[in-house]
Amino acid sequence: MIPFLQLTPGEDAAAVRAAVDRVIERGWFVLGPELDAFEHEFAGATSAAHAVGVGTGTDALAIALRALGIGPGDEVITAPLSAAYTALAIMVVGARPVFADIDPDRLTLDPDAAAAAVTPRTAALMPVHLYGQPSDMPAIAAVAARHGLAIVEDCCQAHLASCGGRPIGSFGAIAAYSFYPTKNLGALGDGGALTTADAGLAARAKRLRNGGQTDRYHHGEFGVNSRLDELQAAVLRARLEWLPRWTARRRGLAAEYRVALAGAPVSVPPECDPGHVYHLFPVRSDARAAIRAALQASGIETLIHYPVPIPRQPAVASEDPAECPVADRVCSEIFSLPLYPSLPEGAIDRVAAALALSSTGDH
Ligand SMILES: *Cc1c(COP(=O)(O)O)cnc(C)c1O
Repeated sequence: MIPFLQLTPGEDAAAVRAAVDRVIERGWFVLGPELDAFEHEFAGATSAAHAVGVGTGTDALAIALRALGIGPGDEVITAPLSAAYTALAIMVVGARPVFADIDPDRLTLDPDAAAAAVTPRTAALMPVHLYGQPSDMPAIAAVAARHGLAIVEDCCQAHLASCGGRPIGSFGAIAAYSFYPTKNLGALGDGGALTTADAGLAARAKRLRNGGQTDRYHHGEFGVNSRLDELQAAVLRARLEWLPRWTARRRGLAAEYRVALAGAPVSVPPECDPGHVYHLFPVRSDARAAIRAALQASGIETLIHYPVPIPRQPAVASEDPAECPVADRVCSEIFSLPLYPSLPEGAIDRVAAALALSSTGDH
């Protein structure tokens, strides 16, 4: 079997256990020293001035919008190909998600399509650095500047990625990260953070995540209860030390896949920037179902990211029946091969061999 993912701690297990023990012995579980230290360290790792730990990546996106004053009556332009949580976060604050199609190579928000979707109600652009590949941020920043829009970067799949050599998260007003266990930096449960260069936005986000409290038991504005707890912060501190090595390994495995899959009956989306961090390794085929079945028969797990464009989701469809033919096509063809730092030796050759067999129907 080659599982799609391996979430049991491996080379980091001793450090993770030590972190958990430290928190248990201290007896301080929410808004304590581990979160302070993690915020400092994560800001450093992402080249941001400030980081604010919250409960989930979805909350990080929503709190980012709230901190920018975006809500009912506002539109936020985003990509139709992403985890649906990107759009749900826009809806949570009462704003309307507007979907602009993706670039066919990069598979991220097309800057020209985003520009065409701007209306007088547009308040922000929310590009998604999907699969670990950075969006075309210089072009997106130009659209934002031309129309006076804020940018909130969805970095949930792209910890430590860069665009044109510049860290992602540094192009917009606020960036949002998820530490869901499957992400490149994962907790032992839910977690998230937002980063910003702006001290005022960071301070407002810290109030908003804590019920809007200005002082203990004094609620100056309507906030939520969404804090990254001490156990998760301590685990994330331990894992953050591994993240550069894990990221390098992801890139190395992706390079191996590209060589091994030359001639395979799938097309591999191009790497449009060397700052790609390969959260996932998607490939495309119009015979997806048959190929996935053949891989499954060889013990190789795959998943589809994502089967449905967000504007085609029943939960979102009423918001915007957007035209996005590129995303429609990608969703019908794309599936992800196993790629993670602890991928077993020889796995990529086995995947490539199974893919080659799948096209002959001889499996
Ligand atoms: C995981 C993810 C989210 C949501 O993060 P959660 O921590 O699960 O709330 C949002 N956007 C993208 C692109 C994601 O991959």
